[in-house]
Parts: sequence; C-alpha cells; structure tokens
Amino acid sequence: MAGEEAFLRNHFRDFYKKKFVAGPPELAAREFGYGVFGRKIANRNLAFASQKDFNNFLRNQVPFFMSYSSALYKFPSRRPMEAKELFAADLVYEFDADDLPTDCKKKHDSWKCPKCGKKGNGRQLQCDDCGTQTKLDEWFCPECLGTAKKKVFSLLEFLEKDFGFNEGISINFSGRAGYHVHVRSESIRQLPRSARLELIDYLTANGLNIFSHFRKEATFFSCPGIEGKAGWPKRILEELVRLLEEPNVEKIAVMGNISVSEAKRLVKEKKTILDSISKRSTIPSIFGRVSSKGESKSDKFWQNFLNNIVAKIAPIDRQTSVDLNKIVRVPETLHGETGFVSRKLSRAELKEFNPFDDALAFEGKGTVRVFIPKAPIIYLAGQSFGPFDEKETELPLNAGIFLLASGRAKLVGEK
Ligand SMILES: [Zn+2]
Ligand SMILES: [Zn+2]
Repeated sequence: MAGEEAFLRNHFRDFYKKKFVAGPPELAAREFGYGVFGRKIANRNLAFASQKDFNNFLRNQVPFFMSYSSALYKFPSRRPMEAKELFAADLVYEFDADDLPTDCKKKHDSWKCPKCGKKGNGRQLQCDDCGTQTKLDEWFCPECLGTAKKKVFSLLEFLEKDFGFNEGISINFSGRAGYHVHVRSESIRQLPRSARLELIDYLTANGLNIFSHFRKEATFFSCPGIEGKAGWPKRILEELVRLLEEPNVEKIAVMGNISVSEAKRLVKEKKTILDSISKRSTIPSIFGRVSSKGESKSDKFWQNFLNNIVAKIAPIDRQTSVDLNKIVRVPETLHGETGFVSRKLSRAELKEFNPFDDALAFEGKGTVRVFIPKAPIIYLAGQSFGPFDEKETELPLNAGIFLLASGRAKLVGEK
C-alpha cells in the first residue's frame, strides 16, 4: 500500500499547507496524539505551546489522524498519566452511526464468515451456520448519520433542559460516521469520574423506576399528566402518544412483544387510549384486566413497550466512556479513513449537514484512476458512483481519496 499512502500524504500535506487549524481551546494544556495510515493512534503524549507550533506539526508531519485530550493538564507531555497533573476535563459524548441499528445497513453493509465462508448483507456479528464471529464490511450513509444526528439533538435537549448546561457546548463531525459533543462550561469541568457516571445513569435512565410513574391501579395504569411532569416521565409519555398517533403496527408489535394482529387491536382503541391519557392520566388495559398479583398480558405489554421507549429515546448508551484521559479528533483536521474534514458545526449547520457534500477537502482538484474490488453505491458532491465489483475507473479526487483512505481501492494512476 506504499503507493496509496504516499499519494494520500501528498494530498493531506497540500490541505494543511493552505489551511490554518485553530485547534481546541486552551491548546497548550492538552495532550495530543496522532495516527498513521491504517492506525488511528500511533503516538501520544505530545504537546504544543501555540497554534503556530501545532500547525507546523500538521504541515511537516502530515498525520492521518489528529486527536487531543478532553482533559487539561499542567504538563500534558509528561509520562506516565499521573505526572501530567490533570486540573480539569471537558465532557465528551461520541455518537457513531456504526453502533446504531438502522435499516440502511442491509443496503450498504455486508459480512463474511472467516471459517465457513458464508456471506450475507447487513451488520451481522455472528455466522448463522457455524456461530463464528464474522468479518464486517461497514459503510455509512446520510440515513444512518441522520439517526446519529437525532441522538445528538436529543442529548442537547437533555443537557439544556434537565441539567441547565447552556454554555460551552461545541459539536463536530467525527470525520467518518459520527459526531462528537463537547461540554466545556466551568460547572462541569471539575466533575469527578463518579459524577460523570451519574450523568450517564441519568441519560440512560439507569435506575429510573418507570413503573412508579406508570403505576398499576385496579383495572388500568396511571400515567403522568401530559402537561405537568418534566424530565423522563414527560419524554416517555410524549413518545408513547407519538407512537400511538403514528401508528406503525409492526413497530408497536416489536416494541411491545405482541403479534401484529394484537397491535392492530391496540391501534383500533387508539382514540380511547389517547383520551384516557389526556383527560384522566390513565391508560386503559387493552389485553385483559391488569392483575395486582400475577402478570397479565396487559402488564407484560406495557412493561416491554415502556422499556423499549426508554431505550429508543435515551440519547446515549451505557457503554459511553467516562475515561478522563481519552483523546478525540481535533475539529477541522482530516480523517485518515475518509479524507473528510472533521467539521466544527453550529446547531443550525448540524441540521443540514451531510459530510458527502459538506466535509469534502479536495474539491475540483483533478481525478485519480483506481481499482475497486467491491463497493456499494456512493453519493458524493451531488454525483453517484458505483456500485463497483472488480472495476478499474477514473474518479474525482474526493471520491478516490474516500475509497483509497479506507483501503477499499488501489491506486492505478493520477492525472
Ligand atoms: Zn460460518
Ligand atoms: Zn446508512
């Protein structure tokens, strides 16, 4: 891959020669790390005294990935970690489309079993014939990025409404399939790890007893008043009403673990249920009486349905890292697996943002001849390319770099 690496490095160098990257706030107190072709973090424990030094490094070293610490240190380049003397740390939440179960993955992802050779479409982690862990070919598209974006907006709403964090919030595209949200307000920067874990508990509704808000009464469930409550109970109720008003019977069936015909029955009673919620703050039992002792069909349905609503609207998952020493992509630098710029975005920009149009670094700069073993259809800068199967073709530079950087294409020649 030497040819590909040198080719990419030349173009990355051109990019950094013309572009001044501001870097993170309080740059001199951050630890930096960089990656090389095919490896996101090859070296860390670097520090820069100024933006000028940082930009000189980008131009001379031409890293394929550039990351910085969410923490601020007195001595960011010292080792081991304790010697750096951490004095504050931003909160960082990462959203990755790869982790979200979206329908588009059936279109653009595929898997192969390394043991028996079985193949299939979608993001399947285990071979259904022999149970071996599969090898995934993962892509991303505006649809799965759109789902990640929804999670970002949901988190922003939680941060503002439930925690009152209105300032110091910064959003950026990760450079590949996700987004990062940084919170830098003074009030959170001193939070210890334990308090950060509590924030995650809240954001994932871990330990929240939903059924104290949706309580079983004699022959119905009580629910929070639609106007009154704030926080989780209100969000759960709003989503419940939205799902009933939509209504998508297949979705309701899956979320409540009932049959489609049962979901149809529930939807037929929609008006009664919605009236009951808004007028009396109660949910009538649809599948037989609720039972104070055993678990009736209605009990089980609401338990499944409400738990799945929580999972659906929680902005982050329990795996979210609270590692104070982690390093993340520097905004406005290049991502070495796509050639995209990890753009810093305002909230209004995020709404419209599509990296396949808005994160391109090499516009109007000639073409490149590549060989592509296999790739799904790609939309980039208003044009579509592929799908490809063992094909040699001439591509605009952005599309060529996108495929070369992720190792999906081989270089044939450049014009
Ligand atoms: Zn297999
Ligand atoms: Zn997708």
